[in-house]
Amino acid sequence: MIIAIDGPAGAGKSTVSKKVASKLGLNFLDTGALYRALAYALDVKGIPPVPGDEMGEELSKLEVELSGGMVYVNGADVSKQIRTPHADRIVSPYSALPQLRSHLLELQRRQALFGKGIVAEGRDIGSIVFPRADVKIFLTASAEERAMRRYRERLAKGEAAIYDEILLSVRERDRIDSTRDVAPLLKPEGSHLIDSSSMSEEQVVDEIVRIATMSK
Ligand code: C5P
Repeated sequence: MIIAIDGPAGAGKSTVSKKVASKLGLNFLDTGALYRALAYALDVKGIPPVPGDEMGEELSKLEVELSGGMVYVNGADVSKQIRTPHADRIVSPYSALPQLRSHLLELQRRQALFGKGIVAEGRDIGSIVFPRADVKIFLTASAEERAMRRYRERLAKGEAAIYDEILLSVRERDRIDSTRDVAPLLKPEGSHLIDSSSMSEEQVVDEIVRIATMSK
């Protein structure tokens, strides 16, 4: 079984997808982590997010791996580095590059070959990565609510956070992700819309499990 969960930044896709996967005995794939890992590695090397031969050559030298919830680039664990506010800011311009997206496509599809199936979350899962997914969900919430959740998450981790800055960053990421030419963020055809603005995490998880169970 393949469950595709798409939606904008901060809609709660990761947490919800992990819980749905665990309830249904499926694997979980956080595709944003893959984009973040490549963006981070290129940024560290000083390679700007522009298409061309240099980008192609650099990408051919980068191997991303997911293992035990951690993300590795060429064997180095980058799981922490890809979750900083700086990583939030740089990831979308890199993700808009077709070269970078095709570099990750097969890796994502291969993850569905293991176990009983997968819950994969991202921006183009139901539209491009798994267009024939058994269940497609478009999970969203208002930008203000998504920014507030990120703000609370950062404070809970003891990190400094300014709500207005987070709201701007969320809006900017939404803008770049939805307006890019290749694989833009959109509600995939045949997907179920869930607006989590006034729903608890548990309610969202139950709703997706209900939809998945009905589709069997
Ligand atoms: O889901 P997360 O916020 O970690 O994703 C980080 C970024 O990776 C997104 O803002 C988007 O630019 C990119 N992304 C993407 N396609 C996906 C998953 C993530 O372009 N399937």
